[in-house]
Amino acid sequence: MTLPDVAAHPTATALDVLRDVFGYDAFRGEQQQIIETIADGGDALVLMPTGGGKSLCYQIPALVRRGTGVVISPLIALMQDQVDALDALGVRAGFLNSTQDPDQRRAVEQAYRSGELDLLYLAPERLGVESTARLLDQGTIALFAIDEAHCVSQWGHDFRPDYLRLSELAERWPGVPRIALTATATHQTRAEIATRLGLTEARHFVASFDRPNITYRVVPKDNPGRQLLDLLRTEHPGDAGIVYCLSRASVEKTAQQLTDQGIRALPYHAGLPAHVRSANQSTFLREDGVIMVATIAFGMGIDKPDVRFVAHLDLPKSVEGYYQETGRAGRDGLPSTAWLTYGLADVVQQRKMIAESDGDLAHRRKLSAHLDAMLALCETVECRRAQLLRYFGQDHAGSCGACDTCQNPPEAWDGTVPAQKLLSAVFRLDRERNQRFGVGHVVDILRGKSTPKITQWGHDSLTVFGVGEDLSEGEWRSVARQLLALGLLEVDSNHGTLVLTEASAEVLGRRRDVRLRRDPRPASGSTRRPAR
Ligand code: ADP
Ligand code: ZN
Repeated sequence: MTLPDVAAHPTATALDVLRDVFGYDAFRGEQQQIIETIADGGDALVLMPTGGGKSLCYQIPALVRRGTGVVISPLIALMQDQVDALDALGVRAGFLNSTQDPDQRRAVEQAYRSGELDLLYLAPERLGVESTARLLDQGTIALFAIDEAHCVSQWGHDFRPDYLRLSELAERWPGVPRIALTATATHQTRAEIATRLGLTEARHFVASFDRPNITYRVVPKDNPGRQLLDLLRTEHPGDAGIVYCLSRASVEKTAQQLTDQGIRALPYHAGLPAHVRSANQSTFLREDGVIMVATIAFGMGIDKPDVRFVAHLDLPKSVEGYYQETGRAGRDGLPSTAWLTYGLADVVQQRKMIAESDGDLAHRRKLSAHLDAMLALCETVECRRAQLLRYFGQDHAGSCGACDTCQNPPEAWDGTVPAQKLLSAVFRLDRERNQRFGVGHVVDILRGKSTPKITQWGHDSLTVFGVGEDLSEGEWRSVARQLLALGLLEVDSNHGTLVLTEASAEVLGRRRDVRLRRDPRPASGSTRRPAR
């Protein structure tokens, strides 16, 4: 072996390793400063978007320093791939996780003790085991790298209890440099990572979160299957992409629909047998133009450069999740699309899921706050990129020119009067709370339609009956969706009935105006509609 010897040469510089081992000419962004910080024995907290090149930030210091770099990663399914990739470069790597048999484990442990590993990947739960700590003491630790560090944040969207134990690393091995890395963190999450991991002296490296080659679009949902097909046919024929759905059932259904249309699509969700999942994943990675239809179980750690689009058929639960999922598009820097379709039913469903979720009030508040931020992004009349980046604490002047709101600025309109009409209708129905009066029924009342349900309940005699004929059904649904998004209306989780919130009273009492966004007319998948 030739390459591993770099590790034995204390004079090997980071740049030598980059060129000789990894075959790249130059560092990207702040890689060099990060690597030098760790190589010199300091700590670092690194925020870099997906595809930014985080791995080298700990792999190179592990090769430059004496001993083994210990990498904590929750991505057990990818450890084998990571180790294989390093092996191919001549870097000596191994992993310890629950998928191994005792013999495999012993071999890796032996290699570590004898100083024959440059990198050792560990699942976080391994560290809670005393035998692992004893093992680590029997070798030389070059550094600790904590990948997906946002998993330590209880406020974040991806919390893993095992990560809390990582605070013990500093106590047990005080002299070992530590680097925490993540592709997603608001100011708040970043502070929490630093505190919980005891990274008080760490240098922070925050790369720009902007992904200028990704165009962001959010379209009102009317017929999602059709809308997706339009998008694929008009803008992404033959392209590789990921379609995210909320449920396993809709993953299966959507994959089948695309297949029926002659499009190469494969399903991926946690309910599929492991061998099917891994076969579909490797087809997606290795072959061109495959579409992965998946739940969010798919994607973490996936490194496929030419994903041309990421489509969401359902509303993501948080901006962090949305950013991470859309970030899988365009890692090669070429133009790519992040497309999301969302509608009234998404808001209703997610609010209901939160109301019914386990956990205490604080937990449900957290979920609601995450959802509200996501809804605000969907309903914004501003540049979506600016809003997205601001969420991550990064300034952006707006007018990016590569999001739907910049390309086709939505009209804002004064929706105060329609909001009052809709809220009064909901108020009238409030007496019959134990009935299921959903949005459809309320809209029928406003538009003065004589349906059997309206006749049965005598709702044609309500004062609000027929007061909303000036708006179409679609426009009323858009009003309802936005009122739900703004928290001016709620869905009672027992019956699915619309109910008022405390804030509704401000609108009904004329103490608050309601600015709404005019939905673009349902059009095909094309981005550019004539400005109105
Ligand atoms: P992240 O973990 O931040 O999502 P990776 O570490 O997987 O990103 O890197 C993304 C891709 O960029 C990989 O294919 C990696 O080999 C490549 N890469 C990283 N650093 C450089 C560099 N300095 N020069 C060229 N390619 C790089
Ligand atoms: Zn924009």
